[in-house]
Amino acid sequence: MIDTLRLTAEEARGLLERGEVSARELFDAYRAVEDDLNCYLLRLDEGEGAGVPIALKDVIGTKGIRTTAGSKILESYVPVYDSTVAARVKVAGLPVLGKTNLDEFAMGSSTENSAFGPTRNPWDPERVPGGSGGGSAAAVSAGLAPWALGSDTGGSIKQPSSLCGNVGLRPTYGTVSRYGIVAFASSLDQVGPVTKTVRDCALLYSIIAGRDACDSTTVEVPDVELPSAQDLNGVRIGVPTEMNDHPGIEPGVRALVHKSIELARELGAEVEECSLPLSVDYGLACYYLIAPAEASSNLARYDGVRYGLRVGADTYYEMVERTRDAGFGDEPKRRIMLGTYALSAGYYEAYYGQAQKVRTAIAREHAQAFERFDVLVSPTSPTVAFRLGEKAADPLAMYLSDLLTIPSNMAGLPGLNIPCGLSEGLPVGLQLIGAQLSENTLFRAGHALERAIGFDTVPERLR
Ligand code: GLN
Repeated sequence: MIDTLRLTAEEARGLLERGEVSARELFDAYRAVEDDLNCYLLRLDEGEGAGVPIALKDVIGTKGIRTTAGSKILESYVPVYDSTVAARVKVAGLPVLGKTNLDEFAMGSSTENSAFGPTRNPWDPERVPGGSGGGSAAAVSAGLAPWALGSDTGGSIKQPSSLCGNVGLRPTYGTVSRYGIVAFASSLDQVGPVTKTVRDCALLYSIIAGRDACDSTTVEVPDVELPSAQDLNGVRIGVPTEMNDHPGIEPGVRALVHKSIELARELGAEVEECSLPLSVDYGLACYYLIAPAEASSNLARYDGVRYGLRVGADTYYEMVERTRDAGFGDEPKRRIMLGTYALSAGYYEAYYGQAQKVRTAIAREHAQAFERFDVLVSPTSPTVAFRLGEKAADPLAMYLSDLLTIPSNMAGLPGLNIPCGLSEGLPVGLQLIGAQLSENTLFRAGHALERAIGFDTVPERLR
């Protein structure tokens, strides 16, 4: 019997290598688990390759396999080529289990914005799994995939991983190719792993990362080291006051993060408080100018002509208007309007130009902190998983979910979520932020802490 709830990808790989299970048996074990949480938009009945199977967020373009980005406008879109990450997953021999649910065009923090219905949280189905990559996170927690890929623009890997109790890495911007990924905000989008353990995360990162001739923003990546150290000797950890004492952080979350920081000290880390005054005060506002601005130009390609939905009409303009009206949900429409406004003549300098300057200041503030520290820590999400519908009608309340994940994203830095305990029976996530290209440091610190914390990633109701 394969216990899909407990088996890590590394253990699964061991079973395959020793011939204790076949790739087909492994695939079928995950395929057989009922998807009563709506994790998947599409499940495949068989996969190619002899490795550990994987689920892909449905913004990841897959040749011959429907890729919807959670939108009606791409409901019947079947890419004619593979994204680079999908191609790398294939080369590594990982069979694809299916495409996971998400907020439409990855815009959201709860997966309630999916045009195909929300995903539910495996710890409590009345609650959201986070977003936008709620499908990938819920699938890994609920035993529907041993590991998965997500994408993170403002927090869409880190925040759902936090709410579902798994490990998630948003890699350094430029380490993972965006070629063939449905674009949201190109200067921020980054694909990364969602897994049960930090070691699985490092393994998967090593498969997808690296320079790609098809994406000129990618760089060479240092060799990935599988973490094994159990201590944190010599690791300098900074605790940004603004990110740990913010009034929006729930007391239960604050307490568990505080406990993990104490644990880090016991493991040998040097821990000190520090400050990122600009990043938390202005990060979110800056993000909600830059991300919608980029989204408004990226989404202009959905015009009923190139690909995707077309609603017929007598004139070209009428056709485009009807296509977009029928094809886009409320959140993409909201972002297109915000972004178009921020980029319009007369306002461009005041909004977009200003936001770019603030972004530079945020990057500088982080760079200064990394002169003194190897890792910065904070909660990943200020709250545990909230109820379905609780924030759906209030976009601003929803946007606050990413208060703590956005600042380092604006600076292009890697961030790792690891679960650090339960508050009110729901997972709490610890965010570890590193300097550019310091993924190995995050893996090392994350692994040592993960071991010491001893979090059980299987949702209590499924044990
Ligand atoms: N929740 C954020 C947004 O809606 C981040 C989404 C993401 O990272 N894709 O923009």
